[in-house]
Amino acid sequence: MAKKSPITGKVQTVLGPVEPRSLGATLTHEHLLFDVSHLGVVPEEASERAWKDATLTMDRRGGLGKRFLGGCHNNALLSIPAAIEEALRFKYAGGGTLVDVTSTGLCRDPLALATVSRATGLNVVMGGSYYMPVAHPAGTKKKTEDDIAKEIICDITVGVKDTGVKTGVIGEVGNMWPATDVQVRVLRASARAALETGAAVNIHPGYHLKSPPFIFETLTKAGLPADRIILGHLDAFHDRAWLRDLVQLGSYLEWDIFGLEDSELGAVAGQPVDFGTDVRRMEDIEFTVSMGAGNRVLLGHDVCTQFQLVRNGGKGYAHILENIVPRLRRRGMKVTQIQAMLTDNPQRALTFR
Ligand SMILES: [Zn+2]
Repeated sequence: MAKKSPITGKVQTVLGPVEPRSLGATLTHEHLLFDVSHLGVVPEEASERAWKDATLTMDRRGGLGKRFLGGCHNNALLSIPAAIEEALRFKYAGGGTLVDVTSTGLCRDPLALATVSRATGLNVVMGGSYYMPVAHPAGTKKKTEDDIAKEIICDITVGVKDTGVKTGVIGEVGNMWPATDVQVRVLRASARAALETGAAVNIHPGYHLKSPPFIFETLTKAGLPADRIILGHLDAFHDRAWLRDLVQLGSYLEWDIFGLEDSELGAVAGQPVDFGTDVRRMEDIEFTVSMGAGNRVLLGHDVCTQFQLVRNGGKGYAHILENIVPRLRRRGMKVTQIQAMLTDNPQRALTFR
C-alpha cells in the first residue's frame, strides 16, 4: 500500500486530519452542495416544460420522482445556509461525520464544505475523482490515466485548486453500463491514486448487474485491494443470488439511498433505475449481515435533490438515525451490528493506509 505519510492512520476531513475514533456515526454517501441541473434534458411536451422552472410546492413534490432531472430545480443544492440547517439535523440526531462524495462533474465546492463543517461541528470528508462521463468537464476525454491519477493525488495531498481543502476519499467515481474507455481510464487512475495515497475508492456503478463486478475487477487488476473499494448504490439491484456473489468479493457494500422510496424514478443519464424501498434495503442488509459481512456494510441517504431535504418534505440527513435504526432494532438487529455499520466500518474504510 501507500508509503507512510502524515495522513497514514488518519481520516482526512475538509478541516484537516482527525483520529478515526473521533468520527462517530458516519454517513458515507451524501451531498451537501451539488448541482446536476445542467445534465437535464428539456422535454418536448409543453406541459412537461412547465415543470422545469416551477417552484417546488407541496402539490408538485410527488411528481418529482419521475422528473428526477427535470423539475423545479430539484437537482441543485446551492445554498450554504440550507446545507448547514439540514446537516445540523443529523448532528442533533447524534451524527458525527458526513462524507460528501461530490466528485468532479457534480459542482464540488470545497470552501463551502469547510464552512458547513465549521458551522455544524460535524466532520465533513470530501470526495474526489470523476462522476459519470455525461458530467465530465470539457477536455476530460483527452486526459491520460496518468493525468487523471495526478489530479486525484494532488486533491488529496495539496488540496483542490487553490483552496487548500483536501479530499479524504476518491469518489463517487461515476460509471455507466456498458463501460466507456474514459470511464475505465478514470477507474484505473482512481485505483492508482488510492494505492499511492492510501485512500479508499467510492463507486457509483452503472445500473446493470454486470457493472459492479466489472468495476471491482478493473480496480483489483490495477492492484487495489478489495477492502479499499466501496461499492455504492446497491439499492439499485434486486437479485439475491447476485448479491450473494458480490458479498464474496470482499469489498465494502454501501446501501446509500435510504429515505428515497419513489416507485417511479426517472432515468439518470439515460439509464432507468429502480431504487426500491427502505424495507427492501433493510432486508438486503440483514441478508448481507446473515452471511457474516456486517463488518463491510456502509450507509447513507445520497441526499442530492431538493425534495430529499426536510424543508421540502423529505427525510434529510437524519433519517437513518431517527427512523431506520429503531426499525432495524425492532426487526431484530443487534446494537453492535448497527454500530458496526454506522461507526466501526466507516472508520476503517475512511482511514488512510
Ligand atoms: Zn451516485
